Amino acid sequence: MDPTRSLRTALAADVDALRQTGLYRRLRRFDSLQEPEVTVDGRRVVMLSSSDVLGLSRHPRVVAAAMEATARHGCASGSSRLIAGNHPLYEELESALATFKGAESALVFSTGYLANIGLIPALVEEDDSVFSDAFNHASIVDGCRLSRARVEIFEHGDPQSLEDALGRRDGARRKLVIVDGVYSMDGDLAPLPDIVALCKRYGAWLLVDDTHGTGILGERGRGTAEHFGLAGRIPIEVGTLGKSLGSFGAWVTGPRELRDALVNHARGFIFTCALPPAALAAALAGLRVIQEEPEHRHRLLENTRYLREGLQSAGFRLGPSQTHILPLFVQDESRVMPFCEALLDAGVFAQGIRPPTVPPGTSRLRLCAMATHSKAHLDRALEAFDSVGRRMGITG
Ligand code: PMP
Repeated sequence: MDPTRSLRTALAADVDALRQTGLYRRLRRFDSLQEPEVTVDGRRVVMLSSSDVLGLSRHPRVVAAAMEATARHGCASGSSRLIAGNHPLYEELESALATFKGAESALVFSTGYLANIGLIPALVEEDDSVFSDAFNHASIVDGCRLSRARVEIFEHGDPQSLEDALGRRDGARRKLVIVDGVYSMDGDLAPLPDIVALCKRYGAWLLVDDTHGTGILGERGRGTAEHFGLAGRIPIEVGTLGKSLGSFGAWVTGPRELRDALVNHARGFIFTCALPPAALAAALAGLRVIQEEPEHRHRLLENTRYLREGLQSAGFRLGPSQTHILPLFVQDESRVMPFCEALLDAGVFAQGIRPPTVPPGTSRLRLCAMATHSKAHLDRALEAFDSVGRRMGITG
């Protein structure tokens, strides 16, 4: 068969298999981004699926910083950091991130995905063991695979299961425990005090992906560690700049030696373009806003409480979230996507999340309020949930 034809046939069959199992994905069109109300595939809807939950990507200080950096320095870095892309804004941002996290140093990567697939193989290799929570983000899963270390998956959020695994692999050369601070699809927290104690007992290094806690949790927004009174005591943290910080890119914090090792060994750092100046300047401004304007995270907490209580009193089943991420489960998971589409028609965007993002049998809508929602937005969303939920027999 002609190779182009065989390529088309093979790939169409792969995608058809997804259609058969209800896991086919398509791209939606958003005519505006990260506002409390957006236009999705031509419909004006209340946004409940943004991760820019503080609304910083549109904050005037963040936007002004990005525009000024672009006007002064251009649109691109034009090179990897080790060649010619190491703009002084990088060092300014890294120094601010290290101080914010109470760490000795920080290194900025071009995305959180690249950070995890670069960082983990730079820490462990074949004779080592990684202990990874079953619900860790896909970038951690891929980083573990690339490292070629032995991977022990422990039960989600279960220190006993972690301890059992640490005990089984006590003889490993290096041991690395990896958890998310806040789980991206469930909104629950890693039990960090127990995990820190276990790492100490078994001589294991600890890496916390705090993508979803940073900027939001803790009295000063420093993240999950601060929430637990452990700020500055997590050896290695990683997180994106693309969510609560309102920009793009990612960071790793830890000891000076870690930064040096990553610059030399992390392939996800070395072999990719440096960030554009606008992303660096916006992240720096976002970090300052988080520290100087706590009202955004206070409003997010208040809006989350309002949304959670409204959904619960309408009879919806929410998972045991402790944060701004609210998973809404539907008894029969094959109805998650029809529910999502019916909500769009009724004026709300709440994306359905299916395997492989979440384990089979746990498809859900993943909801996040934003600090920028007004009560009127949330009331409109709650009304739509209530009427669609009743009509589809999802609530009583
Ligand atoms: N870690 C976690 C926990 C995430 O949720 C994400 C992003 N969805 C990433 C890492 C990857 O970050 P980025 O989007 O910057 O690649």
